[in-house]
Amino acid sequence: MRSSVSSRCAVLLLAGVAAAVIPPRGADSARSKRNARWRYIVIHHSATRQGNARLMDKYHKNTKRMANGLAYHFVINNGTAGRRDGEVEVGRRWEEQLAGGHVRQKWLNESGIGICLVGNFNRTSPTRAQMKSLEKLVNRLCSTYGIPPGCVKGHKDFDGERTVCPGKNFPMAEFRRQIGKQS
Ligand SMILES: [Zn+2]
Repeated sequence: MRSSVSSRCAVLLLAGVAAAVIPPRGADSARSKRNARWRYIVIHHSATRQGNARLMDKYHKNTKRMANGLAYHFVINNGTAGRRDGEVEVGRRWEEQLAGGHVRQKWLNESGIGICLVGNFNRTSPTRAQMKSLEKLVNRLCSTYGIPPGCVKGHKDFDGERTVCPGKNFPMAEFRRQIGKQS
């Protein structure tokens, strides 16, 4: 496919995240199907200093040979590669409700919503704006899809994944305390 990812990746301001997450009106049967599908949220880092959804899509398509491109459902930017700090991008796999390609195990790609924060959190930490956006997005997804906070984990916290993602500096304990606090 030649179409550029910008036409497929809706770029959202924080205020717009809710609109993208909640299925459209009249999609009740779709909604119950979706609710059955998404049972986990998997948090990743890009392990790169900079990036955005378009660049990762290119990499996943051309280098990783993934037909559906961008392996994650959402990307949260860090103010590099022309994106604002904390800006959330919605990938085509989310728009089309496709399985992710962000983990080794098939069952988890099929049941886990993949969110990638741009940055290498073995070297640096996520920005405040990234963490704010992540909290807001995760809270919204959890309430929409009935995902309990215990099913929101870093990539490395899933058995059988063999990775250090999302990096040793990702503030998981602090993040866990924030989940469920906001609406
Ligand atoms: Zn990962």
